[in-house]
Order: sequence, then structure tokens, then C-alpha cells
Amino acid sequence: NRRYRKTIIAGNWKMNKTASETKKFAEELKAILPKAKWCDVVVCVPAVNIPAAMKAFKDVRVSVGAQNVFYEKSGAYTGEVSADMLKDLGVKYVIIGHSERRQYFGETDFTVNKKVLAALEAGLHPIICVGESLEQRELGITMELIALQVKSALAGVPAEKVRKCVIAYEPIWAIGTGKTATAEQAAEVCTFIRTTVRHLYGARIARSVTVQYGGSMKPANAAELLSQPDIDGGLIGGASLKAADFVEIVNAAN
Ligand code: PGA
Repeated sequence: NRRYRKTIIAGNWKMNKTASETKKFAEELKAILPKAKWCDVVVCVPAVNIPAAMKAFKDVRVSVGAQNVFYEKSGAYTGEVSADMLKDLGVKYVIIGHSERRQYFGETDFTVNKKVLAALEAGLHPIICVGESLEQRELGITMELIALQVKSALAGVPAEKVRKCVIAYEPIWAIGTGKTATAEQAAEVCTFIRTTVRHLYGARIARSVTVQYGGSMKPANAAELLSQPDIDGGLIGGASLKAADFVEIVNAAN
């Protein structure tokens, strides 16, 4: 699978770490991060800490990502950050549609789609988050929901740009709860995501898209999750905040 697509281990720091703590983390990481290149390593930091992170990770093999972006190019949108602003700072990836943003900040499949289009237009790689709630899983509508989220996120994305997208399967009931999806559950949905992309864009493009799992991924379960054929990486919250745990997960991707 690595012949066709990248393995990507991405930390999602959420609203954690100041600029000085970012610098300290980068120093710790530098001391223990292996040189081998079996995966891309990304840290998605709070927007205000992007310049500090760019500086701190300059000589570490780590790309800096953002956790959100607004879809308009510029203008009267107090408090928002555009894709061009992120790109200009050297940002490579941007998380779009995380369930916390959908839950607390009113994001919908519609705004997620607009953000994906804006990010691609600016040359960023969107990390598109999809995932079902516990209620939805128990109702047996997980696959329908995932198909809807993937199809609406990619609406209007031209074939040649789809391979720049990463799709992260994050079951809401597994986020920050310590409850991980079993490797089987995670793999089932990640395979389904690739199938959905295949129906939209064909097999060649579908096999080049990185599909991550996220939701309480940690050193203890990373190897099993990452060994599933359609799981090409992880989006890691809690366990990405400690350099040692994060590096263990990077090593588990080997
Ligand atoms: P978690 O968060 O690893 O703390 O569960 C994952 C995420 O929300 O991206």
C-alpha cells in the first residue's frame, strides 16, 4: 500500500500548549524521533502557535498543520484565518470538520466542503474528519453517514486534487474517551471510505488517498490499528501531547 500512498501520523494538539511549550516539545521530539522515513509526521497546532511551531520544527522531520481554516479568501470575518494565510506561514496540512468543530462551532457537511475546496485552492492538504456518534452506530447507520460525509466533503473536488486529501475516520465515541474502535471496526469503515472514493473517482485515485484512523490511538493499540490494510496512519489527540508517546506511535507505523 505504501507504493501507492503515504502513511501519515498526525498529532492534533487541540487547544493545548503555548508557544514556549511548543518549542520544548520540539526539542524533546528531536532527541528521539527516528530518522527513517516510513511515514510523514505532522503536528497540528493552535493557529497562534503556527509561527513558533514552524521555527521550532525547522530542523525536525515534522510538518506543521493547522486545526481549522475559514473558506472565504479575505474580508470582514472577524476572528477567522484564511487558507492563504496558513499557506504563507509554511503550513502543509489542515484538519477540516473535526467532530469537536461540528459539535461546538456549528460546522456542517456544507461548510466542511467549502473549507476543503478553499484549502485545496491554496495548496494545502486537507485532513477531512468523518465519523459517527454512538447513537448512530447503534442505529446501524454508520456506513450511510460516512458515505454522506465523504461525498459531501469531496463535492466539486476535481479528480487530480483528490489525492492531496487525507480522510480521517474518527468515531465520535472513541475520541478522548479512552475507548478505541477495535482494529476490525476501524478497518471496516476505513475500507468503506476507500470504496466510497473509488465509486466517485475510480480505483487508481482511491488507492492513492491516505485514510487515517483517529480516536484514542495510543502506543498500546497503534501497531494493531496501523497494520490494517486500509488504515494508512493516525490522527492522534491525547497521545500526541507527549513526545515519547507520539514517537512510539510513529515507530508503530513501521
Ligand atoms: P484522541 O483524539 O486521540 O484524544 O481520542 C483524536 C482526535 O480527536 O483527533
